[in-house]
This record gives sequence, structure tokens and C-alpha cells, in this order.
Amino acid sequence: MALMTGNDYRESLRKRKPITVFLYGERVDNPVDHPIIKASINSVALTYDLANDPQYRDLMTAKSILTGNTINRFCHLHQSTEDLQTKVKMLRLIGQKCGTCFQRCVGMDALNSVFLTTHEIDKKHGTNYHERFIEYVKLAEGKDWTIDGAMTDPKGDRSKRPSEQVDPDIYVHVVQRREDGVVIRGAKAHQTGAINSHGHLIMPTLNMREDDHDYAICCAVPADAHGITYYYGRQSSDQRRLDVSPEGDIDCGNPVYGGQECLVVYDNVFVPNERIFMDGETTFTPRLVESFAAYHRQSYGGCKVGVGDILIGAAATIAQYNGVLQASHIRDKITEMTHLNETLYACGMACSACGTQTPAGNYLVDILLANVCKQNVTRFPFEIARLLQDIAGGLFVTCPSARELHNPQTRTIIEKYLAGAEGVETVNRIKMLRLIENLTLGRAAVGYLTESMHGAGSPQAQRIMIHRLAGIEEKQKLAKALAQIED
Ligand code: SF4
Ligand code: FE
Repeated sequence: MALMTGNDYRESLRKRKPITVFLYGERVDNPVDHPIIKASINSVALTYDLANDPQYRDLMTAKSILTGNTINRFCHLHQSTEDLQTKVKMLRLIGQKCGTCFQRCVGMDALNSVFLTTHEIDKKHGTNYHERFIEYVKLAEGKDWTIDGAMTDPKGDRSKRPSEQVDPDIYVHVVQRREDGVVIRGAKAHQTGAINSHGHLIMPTLNMREDDHDYAICCAVPADAHGITYYYGRQSSDQRRLDVSPEGDIDCGNPVYGGQECLVVYDNVFVPNERIFMDGETTFTPRLVESFAAYHRQSYGGCKVGVGDILIGAAATIAQYNGVLQASHIRDKITEMTHLNETLYACGMACSACGTQTPAGNYLVDILLANVCKQNVTRFPFEIARLLQDIAGGLFVTCPSARELHNPQTRTIIEKYLAGAEGVETVNRIKMLRLIENLTLGRAAVGYLTESMHGAGSPQAQRIMIHRLAGIEEKQKLAKALAQIED
């Protein structure tokens, strides 16, 4: 099955072996249909449905370099700078459609970074990781998998190396080596969409030293592998999905789509040899971490921009409902939101256009520009959200619940006093306010704001890379040459 539909994807999740998921202190027997988890699955399902929509096929699909088949772009190894740019456009499109994190990009970014790194390890060490990895990619493409790119370990005491931690499990590591594979233990934190995935591609989270040998492990396991437990991450206002008024889920703000983050614990999980793509080659951990980070920092120049488009649309709509759309200060604020959002897009496109081919054959973004992109993402969405809240007025946090709309005793009062401009239905004004609440304070704010700050690495991680790649000495030479200084 080369291209699944959203429903095929949902069915494929149901066909997994039972997985252990904890949410609100209880084990969830059927994660696929749980009202909170379902919303996050709807977002991933879009990556399948849009690939089957003739209008979006060029953006959403690609030709596999391994088999020549048409595949979902989320499983694609980028073949040109155009491919890299198309990826950014695709992520913007999906962000526009769901207004939240649609989770599948982490796997795409992991596929590309492990592909290029395994090639380089083999060249130096004579291993056969790349060949194994190609077989894994073929499987992922052919089965149209959603893959959790699992990089971030819980890290414990940040001043200590993985091998120096009091609890050795605080970073994922090999606890047993067998003839047929290895056994791993540890956890990955902030895992985007892991419960909604078919498999996990596990990578080391930082540059390992020789002592951290057992922690330099890159491997793949099925999402339903024995020994994996998922702990669902609570997000602001998530229980709104359980408290649906008879009037509908107006108070959710974004009734259909949601994101997903969780803690994943690997308790003695077996990995067969053919799914091991790095085991102890510590000197290649920087290459893997930095290339993965660069791809995912590029991604933010697409997905967050798509969600930013929704914030801009919401700003204009609520201004219209309030009768102030033509006010000059409103127009100016919307212009500023657009300027900031398009700057992020420009960064995403620029690091793609300046990408280069790796020795393995796939294309990697310009690492400096990808880090600049993400550094801007740690700031601009906050300003865009601030401007939206400014334009919206305070009602998005003081608005009575949808249940007051349902109660005949209170409905007329709500409709009378929450009315906006003439001809605007009060219920529509409330829906837009709830969307604004969702995007800037609620569940989608996790994906739009906090993830903009910390996803794909917190701001300082980008500053380290920007400083390292800044070429300061070259720039000093330029300045000295102009000033005619020879020292
Ligand atoms: Fe994709 Fe953006 Fe979510 Fe990362 S944050 S998984 S790039 S939608
Ligand atoms: Fe992310």
C-alpha cells in the first residue's frame, strides 16, 4: 500500500498490537478513539488525506529514489533544493489546515539525517548500517508509516554526561548485547505524536564521548514493541474535549484537531541487528544530532507559518466581527503580523534553497540559515500571538461557556450582550474568540508557542550553532582589509 488515506491510517493504528498508554492516571485501552487522543490522530490523518487530494498531490507526494514508486513526501529522502523547498510549502499547507502540530515531520527529518549519517559511518568504519537503513526506509515508504523521530532524553542533571548520571537510564542506552541484537533501556521525553506512530527511530540526543559508548545508539523499534509505555502529556484546556456542551464543542476552539506530546519509556526493549544504525560510534553523534536539528529547525519555517496564517485570519475576522477591521491601527497590526510570519517563511525557504547534496546523495539544508530560522521562531510567534490578543480584546478569556448558549434561560442574554457588529451572529463571534484562546493560551498554544520556543532545541542550542558557523574570523579579515590593517 503506497499511499494510505486518513482512514487507512486510523485502521493501521488499530491493527497494532495493544500498546500501553497512561492518561489521567489510567490505562487507555483504545487510544485511537479516545476523545483527547483522537484529535491528535486527526491532525496526522491530514498528512494522508491531503496526499490523496489531486489538488495537493505535487506538494504531498514524491517519487521514491529507492523504488521509483509514488510515496508520501513524509517518507521521502530529499533529492534537490527544490524538494527541500517543497517540504516547507507542504508543512505550511498542513499548518493552515489544522492549526496545530501534525506530528509527522519529526520522522521525515529523522529519516533524512540517519540516511546521511549511516553512509558516513560506514565509510569510516566499514560497517553496513547504511544498507540496513535503506531496507528500513523502503519499508517505511511502502507501508506509508508515520515515524516518531525519538531524540530528546530526559537528561537528569544537565551538568553531567550520560555515563556520569546517578541513574544510568536517564539517557537511552544499550543494557545487553546479544548475537541477534541489543536490548535498550531509558526514556525519550516530549515525544511528538509517538502514540500515533507505527515505529520509533531512536537517536542519541547529544554529542557523546568515548565513555558514553553505550549511549551512542541509533535504532528502530515498532511503536507496539514489547517493553514500551507511553505517558500522555497534559496540555492546557485538554479536558474541554471531555466537557462537550449539547451545543457542540464550541469551547474547544479547534474542535477537530490537536497535537500530542508524551513521555515514552523503553524498559528492556529488544532491537534486532537489522534495525541498529549506530552502536557506539560516538564521533558521529554530532553529525546525526546537528543534521536532524537542522532539518527540524527548517520544518518550523513551514508548520509554524501555516499556523501563523490562521492567527492572522483570526485577527482580521474578530476585528471584522467587532466592526473595527478598517481602523488604521488594526490594519497596521495585521500588517506587522504578516511581516513577521512571512519573515519566518523566508527563512525556511532560504535554508532550503541554499541546501547542498550530502555524500549519501540526499539534500541537507544550509545549517546556519536553518538555525537562524528556528531562532526567529523562538520569538516571532510570541509577538504574532500578542498582537492577536491585542486585537481580540479581553473577551477571549472572559467569555461564558457554550452551556450558557444552550440554556434557554441565559441564551438571549448572552446573545444580546456579546453581540458584535450588526449582522454578525453572536455564536460565530464566540467561536472565533475560542479559536483565539486555543491558539494563544489553550491546547494549540503548546504547538504554536511553547513548541516554537523549545521544539527542535531551545533558543540557546541555536545560538551555539549560529556562533560556531558565523565565520567571525573571515568577517574580521573583511573589515581589516577595508580599513587597510595588516597585523
Ligand atoms: Fe511538524 Fe511542526 Fe509539529 Fe515539528 S512542530 S512535528 S515540524 S508540525
Ligand atoms: Fe516539534
